[in-house]
Amino acid sequence: MPADLIDGAAVAKKIRQAVTLRVDALLVRDIRPGLTVILVGEDPASAVYVRSKEKSCIEAGMRGETIRMPASTSETELLARVDQLNHDPRVHGILVQMPLPKQIDAQKVIRRIKPEKDVDGFHPVNVGKTLIGDADAFAPCTPAGVQVLLREYGVQTSGRDVVIIGRSNIVGKPMASLLMQSGETADATVTVCHSRTANLAWHTKRADILIAAAGRPELVTGDMVKAGAVVIDVGMHRVADPSTKSGTRLLGDVHFPSVSLVASKITPVPGGVGPMTIAMLLQNTVRAAELYG
Ligand code: NAP
Repeated sequence: MPADLIDGAAVAKKIRQAVTLRVDALLVRDIRPGLTVILVGEDPASAVYVRSKEKSCIEAGMRGETIRMPASTSETELLARVDQLNHDPRVHGILVQMPLPKQIDAQKVIRRIKPEKDVDGFHPVNVGKTLIGDADAFAPCTPAGVQVLLREYGVQTSGRDVVIIGRSNIVGKPMASLLMQSGETADATVTVCHSRTANLAWHTKRADILIAAAGRPELVTGDMVKAGAVVIDVGMHRVADPSTKSGTRLLGDVHFPSVSLVASKITPVPGGVGPMTIAMLLQNTVRAAELYG
């Protein structure tokens, strides 16, 4: 029997509705939650992400602002801009869109954002808080969104084997941090695989929950998945497809046709993890305004 679809778009919509109610409650206290995104350079994909973040904020009744800086911006200029936003009381969340031009050290910029405004959850303070299970943390949006999807679909994680493919700081590592904690939608036994993992399929085949975040189109095929596993596809790749109107289509890290025949539940691409990322960003921003506004 084909797997049930995990509808990330529907869950994201529900979260955004809840965020709007929280924004309304803050407006009564004269606080309008505000997210400022800094976009350095002209990367077209980044420009699309940033526009959609700004639009989503405004739809939720928040202040959404984008600061565009030229690709020639120096590290000092960018850090000065971050400092200004750190001190601006109208700004509750700051996000610096990655990737940054070569002359700028991304880690230095992330460390400059006040942890209380780091709604992306990439500052070492938030990374550490997420790891120690501190309820105060801003957890990174994509893995936090995956955890919400598991919860919303009643996926049991306690005592289950979770295998994550990918150890990046934005997806794989924080995903492991969240699911290894004790508590709700956690308590899992987590394995993190990466490009040096010997025999990837041996690990994936014993996963009750398999989370693919390798950045490799259709890496995970049906023969690598245990029957009845829950499969979460974080990957996102735009590939050429002359049969579509736009000439392109989106693929994940999972080969959907074969894996959906083996798994019990699966996220599609698009419409799975993707919509959750922005929803969690809005949720983190409204929380920043509630906590520190
Ligand atoms: P990344 O920084 O490139 O990290 C990829 C990770 O996968 C690395 O740890 C790498 O191992 C590992 N890997 C690569 N090839 C592998 C293989 N053949 N076998 C096992 N492990 C392998 O990517 P990322 O930023 O985490 O993103 C991962 C994917 O998620 C991308 O497709 C990205 O577009 C997507 N993404 C989606 C969202 C969303 O909102 N839906 C958000 C973020 C990212 P090494 O460490 O050894 O190199």
